[in-house]
Amino acid sequence: MVGAAIGYGLARAGAKVNVLDQGDSAFRAARGNFGLTWVQSKGLGAHPYFLLSRNSVDAWAELAEELREHTGVDVAYKRTGGLTVCLGEKEASDRRDFIARFRVQEAEGGYDCRFVERDELQQLIPRAALGPTVTGASFSPMDGHANPLFLLRALLAGIRRAEGRYTPLQSVERIDRSGSAYTVVTADARWHAPKVVVAAGLGTQRLAAMVGLDVPVRAQRGQQIATERAKPVFHHAMSGVRQTQEGSVLIGYTQEDVGLNNDTTVAGLRSITRRAIASFPLIARLRLVRAWAALRVLTPDGRPIYAESATHPGAYVATCHSGVTLAAAHARLFPDWVLAGRAPEPFASFGPERFHVQAAN
Ligand SMILES: Cc1cc2nc3c(=O)[nH]c(=O)nc-3n(C[C@H](O)[C@H](O)[C@H](O)COP(=O)(O)OP(=O)(O)OC[C@H]3O[C@@H](n4cnc5c(N)ncnc54)[C@H](O)[C@@H]3O)c2cc1C
Repeated sequence: MVGAAIGYGLARAGAKVNVLDQGDSAFRAARGNFGLTWVQSKGLGAHPYFLLSRNSVDAWAELAEELREHTGVDVAYKRTGGLTVCLGEKEASDRRDFIARFRVQEAEGGYDCRFVERDELQQLIPRAALGPTVTGASFSPMDGHANPLFLLRALLAGIRRAEGRYTPLQSVERIDRSGSAYTVVTADARWHAPKVVVAAGLGTQRLAAMVGLDVPVRAQRGQQIATERAKPVFHHAMSGVRQTQEGSVLIGYTQEDVGLNNDTTVAGLRSITRRAIASFPLIARLRLVRAWAALRVLTPDGRPIYAESATHPGAYVATCHSGVTLAAAHARLFPDWVLAGRAPEPFASFGPERFHVQAAN
């Protein structure tokens, strides 16, 4: 998802691009995610992360429209506003506190989020009676959702339409520097380029080390469920429940540290389903048609890592755990860095050196 967005942006800017992709055997968060474009919980204690996320969602409508024009793919983006539903008084008071602290951090405005009490929440979702323990929700007009599979398809189609290449079944084994250019070696080919962007999800750490960058990432499993299609009930994007344009209700998602394991489990699926039904009892009447798990790509502080290598100029890395939310920033801003050689402001403070405490001391 990250590589496709950057590749798309580069190709649209006129660069000669080839996206090498390991293929379907790889772990791919891009094909198993929830599809939220989500800001309300991004960047408390990390103003640059909030700004980057906000910038990206503000550019999302244009990205969606541009993709539709250039590829014919409608990625079903809607900025519906986003809700995080609270069960019980403790969750509600924690959420109010979270919003208040975020507003203090973003004192100049920009953090557009408020707590809605149960009665108002019920008015926002008139067709689904709330469960008895629902106390309210945070509501942010900044948030929305899209179809992440269509997004991936559109980005790859966009690369081709801009005369770039997408080359699947190319698992990168080595990145060598030869003079001022790079040779990227796969099992059956050698690819040459003056610049290389490593954006390989959970494969990033290994490949980034080859260009002198230490980029710690780990996997976190998220299990999800899709129900049969139903009449439109949930208009808003929600953390944990969202209804797709086609009518399926998606129920998400666990957060499990189980390494490189993308199995589903009864316990995991039960926990997310119970919460969804506690929020909206009508979900109990829907038939479940599919369940899956995918692995998030997490850095130690949960924020993205973007860098150009000091030892290997022209080699870049990009990784994050919100590739849908940040797709617009990746497609529209990141390419400037690669093409002009200077990090655009929103990306400037996400280098991996922030984890190297001992080195910094
Ligand atoms: C359960 C779940 C829910 C999520 N929900 C959301 C959400 O609502 N909103 C949001 O913004 N984000 C969400 N995400 C996160 C989002 O899916 C990821 O941020 C995004 O997919 C990361 O993109 P990526 O390209 O870094 O990694 P991936 O999508 O995992 O892709 C990695 C790619 O690297 C390739 N690769 C790996 N190694 C090599 C190699 N050696 N050679 C060549 N290619 C290689 C693979 O083939 C693959 O295509 C969710 C993730 C999960 C798991």
